[in-house]
Amino acid sequence: MKIFVVSGLEPVFYREIELIGKLFFEEVRVVGGKQEQNGDFHLHFAVQGTGPVFANLTLKDILRDQTVKTAHRREVEAGLNEKEIRKQVKQAISYVLLQALQKATGVEQPWGILTGVRPVKLFHSFLLKGFSASETVQRLQKDYLLHPAKTDILTEIVERQKEVLPDLYTLDQEVSLYIGIPFCPTKCAYCTFPAYAIRGRNGLVESFLAGLHEEIEAVGKWLRENKVPVTNIYFGGGTPTSVSMEQLDGIFQVLKKHIPDYEMIRELTVEAGRPDTLNEEKLELLKAWAVDRISINPQSFQEETLKVIGRHHSVKETLDKFRLARKMGLDNINMDLIIGLPNEDATIFAKTLDTMRELKPDSLTVHTLSFKSGSVMTQNRDRYRVAGRDEVREMVKMARDWAKELGYRPYYLYRQKNILGNQENVGYAFPGKESLYNILIMEEKQTIIGLGCGAVSKMVSPHTGRIFRFPNPKEPKVYNETLRHHIEEKIRRLNEVYQCGNRSAY
Ligand code: SF4
Repeated sequence: MKIFVVSGLEPVFYREIELIGKLFFEEVRVVGGKQEQNGDFHLHFAVQGTGPVFANLTLKDILRDQTVKTAHRREVEAGLNEKEIRKQVKQAISYVLLQALQKATGVEQPWGILTGVRPVKLFHSFLLKGFSASETVQRLQKDYLLHPAKTDILTEIVERQKEVLPDLYTLDQEVSLYIGIPFCPTKCAYCTFPAYAIRGRNGLVESFLAGLHEEIEAVGKWLRENKVPVTNIYFGGGTPTSVSMEQLDGIFQVLKKHIPDYEMIRELTVEAGRPDTLNEEKLELLKAWAVDRISINPQSFQEETLKVIGRHHSVKETLDKFRLARKMGLDNINMDLIIGLPNEDATIFAKTLDTMRELKPDSLTVHTLSFKSGSVMTQNRDRYRVAGRDEVREMVKMARDWAKELGYRPYYLYRQKNILGNQENVGYAFPGKESLYNILIMEEKQTIIGLGCGAVSKMVSPHTGRIFRFPNPKEPKVYNETLRHHIEEKIRRLNEVYQCGNRSAY
């Protein structure tokens, strides 16, 4: 725990101190100078927030007995409102603190002061305001302190997204559907998704599915009445292929019956992440329902690692199921890898990439491990050896070079809290094999209606661009008990966001 003792700043800005501090240290506490004199860093700010914004910082590093001074001035565009000016002040505070901590610790932060999940969305927002791509890069480097390696990948991704979805900026007239199936064969140690071990719970599965069918029917009716087309459908969870063939078939039947113009949907994805949920019959069913894209996720090709993270399937099983799916003609298969899994280093990761080279999936999402609060892995963190910042950075670069060499192109990127080495997750695909849904969910350019357990509806107003979230219950039992309520509430909110029935609250 590092204690930052702050003076010269209103407490309302302490959140910025904490966010930047956490890029350097696992735990950070921010206190006002009057409350506590002891601490690891003493920060004295002088900030002026009218006209151009000025921020000056003197940082005393008690342990290393050194003082670092940083200063920043940023111009404020004419016509900004109070809230937007305050945002500039926050950024200026983050800026001087990041520079001071980089100098004090010698640790560089490639993402600069960006601590949010969606840097690509920020890039798009500059383009939508009329900035060119090169002007956007300049601003990200100058105002947000991004390193050129990060602005390079953002530029490449934005270009790719605009090629893949030329209508990305106008897709707010349509919606996509996310279907959450909250069951898996076993629970992985790093998992915080709604995922319940399925064995022995068929009764629970059946009643959940009955509720899901009802929810699909109600949303289908709303889509039809309001003439809102569906762009994509994405099955996630959990592992949707954990349920039986008949149960999976039942969901497709209901979708076909109730979702308007079902045949016109651009992309249908089913996550089949756990290879232990797949067999020939289920793959045949996915093909029969014209599923465009599936995921089979190894995470690692190390037997030992799979045991530690609780996957309960073997490396051979992943390889066999991938080859089976290929043999059966599934021609868009995604695989996920995770960098920084327990006891894995760059040598082990290189072996995983070698195996991946033999398979050549159509797309590959390379995650960097994040220690999410609530996961078993986070609770037992002390028991694992986890790669350090430099090694994680090396593995991220290995993945990028490997993907480039094989002809994959990055097409979406997001970051998470507590991600190892302050890195990112990147989706790579061979041209033409990108997931449209992944782009849409990350860039938040259209409404995603969540159906099923733990599914979060993210409603993007086509009138104002504002975003409203509505989560479904995570637990199957609660989902069923509150089914009527959350269906009605979702429809009510959709009506408001889409101004149906002349409502105009949003
Ligand atoms: S397969 Fe995915 S959803 Fe299921 S427990 Fe593992 S990480 Fe969670």
